[in-house]
Amino acid sequence: MRKKRIVILGAGYGGLRTLKRLQEFHPNADIVIINKNDYHCEVTSLHEVAAGTTNAEKICYPISFVIDREQATFVQDTVLRVDREGKKVILKQGGPLSYDFLLISLGFESETFGIQGIEEYALAISDIPSVQSIRRHIEEQFSKWAEDHKDERLTIAVGGAGFTSFEFLGELTERLPKLIRRYHVDGSKVRVVCIESTVLPMFDRKLAGYGTSKLSARGVEFVTGRVVRVLPDQVYYKNGDELHAIHAGTFVWGGGVRGSSIIAASGFRQRRGRVQVNGDLTVPGYPDILIIGDCSAVIDPDSGRPYPTTAQIAIMQADYAAYNLKALAEGHTLKNFIYKSKGTVCSLGRKDAVGQVMGQNLKGYPAFFMKKIIENRSLVKIGGLETMLKKGRFGLSK
Ligand SMILES: Cc1cc2nc3c(=O)[nH]c(=O)nc-3n(C[C@H](O)[C@H](O)[C@H](O)COP(=O)(O)OP(=O)(O)OC[C@H]3O[C@@H](n4cnc5c(N)ncnc54)[C@H](O)[C@@H]3O)c2cc1C
Repeated sequence: MRKKRIVILGAGYGGLRTLKRLQEFHPNADIVIINKNDYHCEVTSLHEVAAGTTNAEKICYPISFVIDREQATFVQDTVLRVDREGKKVILKQGGPLSYDFLLISLGFESETFGIQGIEEYALAISDIPSVQSIRRHIEEQFSKWAEDHKDERLTIAVGGAGFTSFEFLGELTERLPKLIRRYHVDGSKVRVVCIESTVLPMFDRKLAGYGTSKLSARGVEFVTGRVVRVLPDQVYYKNGDELHAIHAGTFVWGGGVRGSSIIAASGFRQRRGRVQVNGDLTVPGYPDILIIGDCSAVIDPDSGRPYPTTAQIAIMQADYAAYNLKALAEGHTLKNFIYKSKGTVCSLGRKDAVGQVMGQNLKGYPAFFMKKIIENRSLVKIGGLETMLKKGRFGLSK
């Protein structure tokens, strides 16, 4: 009898952790994992590459580190869509790949909310090429200022004051003194402005206030408003009915993310690229397809709203997905996913952070220390101890 084929789309936190666990379970099935790059990226550190405080190599490792060749095959290709009725994955380069059971974990894309100019002129923190271009762009602006003294080149505006924006701002404040020295820039002309409507909405107001005061002390200006339009060197925002403009050579958009556009392209019933999955992570009406991570919506029974999409939840879902994929392949009963939040920590640059862990508010160095423990733990959970040692990431400082 032909062996069943399990196909995993995406080798991020959800997909690669599922592969790792599934290999440990030795299912009676062939496993194929598809990813557009041949490396896994630790997305939770992308802001460091964007600010230039870390290099891309430090936060990526080859997918091959996790593959057990006796059980699994890696295909490097871009997924275009899923043909649910034909049970095939349509790829950009290779021919259609059929599956018996499918796991979708294709992650997130930047959400524009239809704001004019975001798509064309804003820079987003979403993958390695995007953060490398942020780093290059800021350096180019600083280097050109030395030639033409156009002061807007030294203004960096950031839209949104959620997790990603805050982590980026924290790193940026660490990096700017070095850029000022390297490009012989007049430091008094450098401006970093954050346009926000709610600061760190996931935290209580005391912690959010701590984060804001720390960044303000390092020179970040916070202005209240909603970004309404972006032009090459200008950002418009509205506070009530008042329209304001900031002349900025760099605009980084951290206003929100959505699930992969492949979800809508495949005809799933979705909202902002996310499918509300069943308790066992299968898609309603498609018991052979599971979705996890940022492409899934799991409802919090307490609030009735979806849990925020995080690496933490993607990794936890992956453990259930691995179990359930093996169960599907072997005709056993599936388990329902139960989420137990371990808390959230937002870094504010070197040796500073804010967070809520196991019901406790943390700030300053203890929060930063916890952040490093969380990062190292997910590196070990997915890449294994050997990968962590190879990446030289056993220390708790950068
Ligand atoms: C700057 C930043 C900081 C963050 N910090 C935290 C944090 O501290 N804690 C936390 O819990 N969460 C954090 N998050 C959120 C977290 O990173 C995401 O929730 C998490 O990455 C989602 O995991 P995933 O498996 O769904 O997708 P990802 O980890 O994004 O993986 C998706 C994979 O799919 C691949 N892919 C995408 N499209 C295609 C395609 N068409 N074809 C083939 N392959 C494709 C990608 O290359 C990638 O490997 C942060 C996010 C950002 C941007």
